[in-house]
Amino acid sequence: MAESTEMDYKSLPKIELHAHLNGSLSTSCLTELYHMKYPNTDDPPSHINGYKILDKFVELKDCFERFKYAHDLTDTPKRLKRATEIIINECHDDGVVYLEIRTTPRATEHMTKEVYLSTICEAIIECHEKEPKNPIVKLIPSFDRSKGVNDARDTLDVVLKVREKFPGMIVGIDLSGNPENTNFQDFKPLLQEARNAGLKLTLHCAETAGTEEENMEMLEFGMDRMGHGTFMDESPDTWLTLREKKIPVECCITSNLKCATVPDITKHHIQKLLH
Ligand SMILES: [Zn+2]
Repeated sequence: MAESTEMDYKSLPKIELHAHLNGSLSTSCLTELYHMKYPNTDDPPSHINGYKILDKFVELKDCFERFKYAHDLTDTPKRLKRATEIIINECHDDGVVYLEIRTTPRATEHMTKEVYLSTICEAIIECHEKEPKNPIVKLIPSFDRSKGVNDARDTLDVVLKVREKFPGMIVGIDLSGNPENTNFQDFKPLLQEARNAGLKLTLHCAETAGTEEENMEMLEFGMDRMGHGTFMDESPDTWLTLREKKIPVECCITSNLKCATVPDITKHHIQKLLH
């Protein structure tokens, strides 16, 4: 019998370093969370379609808009915990051996930011206790640029507190969220404070076109990893600096195509980065 030449990609060990919690909820996960939150609804299953993250968007801002649905379903500790468990289990099924989940701590009417972060940490620990073969999971809290500096200040205080409660769990800080109408300079003091406290930094950078000046500011500030870097090659200076500083770039091919920041796979910047 001829041997199959097809690679078993699913069972290949993988690391997943750019998983936004609320952007990683599969359709079946969203469905389960939806029925947990709205158990008495008679809505047909098609209602769930409104919650799907993985539609094709026209612009990046549509993607941020869609996150609101996921946020609606992860607004209690119980459903947030369940969402975390499902992400970990699904990653395990996909052959992920090391996973970093990132998320912006969110206060809702049902929980504080501290409870939000602690709930995820508890879910991670419980998942590992239940199934030791699950991936090693770490947490990266995010500053959401669109929520402003005061919110990020509050987030950093909570992060440092929760880090004490769950040693070794929180490995870095992420800067993400809709970059429109925000200024990287405003977040620098807080990011520096996080760095001084021993947290690594991964910054979403050049996710949209026309931000050369800010890209250079970010490169000069420094980071341990860059999120996306989609438009880094718009300026020869930033491209060269990125290469000189040897900053690893988290390329998210599916995300870039779905969020329409890259028109098609043949134009994806990963090809240039690999040369
Ligand atoms: Zn991202």
